[in-house]
Amino acid sequence: MSASKDSSAVITRFAPSPTGSLHLGNARTAFFSHLWARKSGGRFILRIEDTDVARSQLRFRDELMAEMRWLGLTWDEGPDIGGPSAPYSQAERGELYQSLFARLAADGEAYPCYCTAEDLELSRKLQRMAGKPPRYAGTCRHLTGAQRAAQEARGLKPTLRFAVPNDRIIEFIDVVHGPQRVASSDIGDFIIRRDDGTAAFFFCNAVDDSAMGITQVLRGDDHLTNTPRQLMMLDALGLRRPAYGHVGLLVGADGAPLSKRHGSTSVQEFRERGFLPAAILNQLLRLGHTGDVDGWLAVADMPAHFRPEHLGRAPARFDESQLVHWQKETLERMSAQQISSWLGSGDSPDFVELVRHNVVLPADASPWRAVVCGELPPLGKEEQGVIAAAGPAFFAAAADALDQSSLDLKQLTTILKERTGRKGADLFMPLRAALTGQIHGPELAPLLKLMSPAMVRHRLKSHAQNS
Ligand code: GLU
Ligand code: ZN
Repeated sequence: MSASKDSSAVITRFAPSPTGSLHLGNARTAFFSHLWARKSGGRFILRIEDTDVARSQLRFRDELMAEMRWLGLTWDEGPDIGGPSAPYSQAERGELYQSLFARLAADGEAYPCYCTAEDLELSRKLQRMAGKPPRYAGTCRHLTGAQRAAQEARGLKPTLRFAVPNDRIIEFIDVVHGPQRVASSDIGDFIIRRDDGTAAFFFCNAVDDSAMGITQVLRGDDHLTNTPRQLMMLDALGLRRPAYGHVGLLVGADGAPLSKRHGSTSVQEFRERGFLPAAILNQLLRLGHTGDVDGWLAVADMPAHFRPEHLGRAPARFDESQLVHWQKETLERMSAQQISSWLGSGDSPDFVELVRHNVVLPADASPWRAVVCGELPPLGKEEQGVIAAAGPAFFAAAADALDQSSLDLKQLTTILKERTGRKGADLFMPLRAALTGQIHGPELAPLLKLMSPAMVRHRLKSHAQNS
């Protein structure tokens, strides 16, 4: 276990609970932790916090590892590859926790609590009525050995509570929030082992960070209030404290916590829609982290631009339109080959080259495939107007002209200009509308070349009669 403990190295971690898919907010803290380790030539550890047996699933663990790999957030130690602090799943670390529970209990720094849920509820009610903040009243803290034995004889399964020291000030410097001071008298004795014998989140989370040599913990600021408790436990156990940094939550464009009604929220959803890792990472890098570069960054260059001191505590707003911006920037930097495999439909190189600047997601290419070799969707209002304004005679002339020009747009429009007297937008717009069903899109000349003459003739002729 000690081989890894180079005292100068930055060691960060991502410690997800495998109870759901990898959410954008979690991906962001994982990414920041990854960047910090990479920036400093340190190590990044993946630890699975699966002590909540009822909610943890192997399927979620595998999924979130797959999503992290897809994003490029590779880890140096983890459940799949092992490492000097193995095992990396908390479900397998019970022995360590039990030995530490025993130590705390032996030293009188933890004690069994026999209070039932009803006892605790009643006690909270009384405190509220007395105008006090509800916290554990310390009922079982000073039970004698005989009293404990009597409770055990009743068959009550105790929890184990941490005995919060009196009159202590817990101080730490949060990487994001700055100096923190909390009085221990504001904290009631809290549960570190549940009545089923498993370790509570607070406990194993802190103990493992220390045991695994984590130097910098980054996590969401919903955990900020947990930290004083965790520090008290580490101090009681004589374990080294990591530095903590609590980043602002990720919220939707409307300021509400990111949720389903904001659209996609999991990495899996963005991946399945065709968003690219570099686009997602460029976006995440700017959420709650103010950088020194405004423009697109290659993933390999990101660690050098990560500044822990530039992490923000204000909630960071995620807006999909910004992700779309980074997606376009990413697409611009991809080769035709890469775009083609991203589109994934075996399109011709000419087609790929033509549509690549008109798509954000692979699904955006299918209307253009229909334009080139399928059925056009019903025309929109604007297109109908443009076509009606040109009139049937225009399209009859166009269909005629096609016999001479074939699929050469320049020739076609030259002939048509002579015959109809139309020019500029009056000439091009009705053609584009009739041939593509839209008045915007890729360059018309190369698009026309990808169509069959029969299809073009059919599209022109369909507007050559009064309807
Ligand atoms: N398993 C905890 C969570 O997913 C970890 C919190 C932390 O990073 O310390 O919320
Ligand atoms: Zn109790």
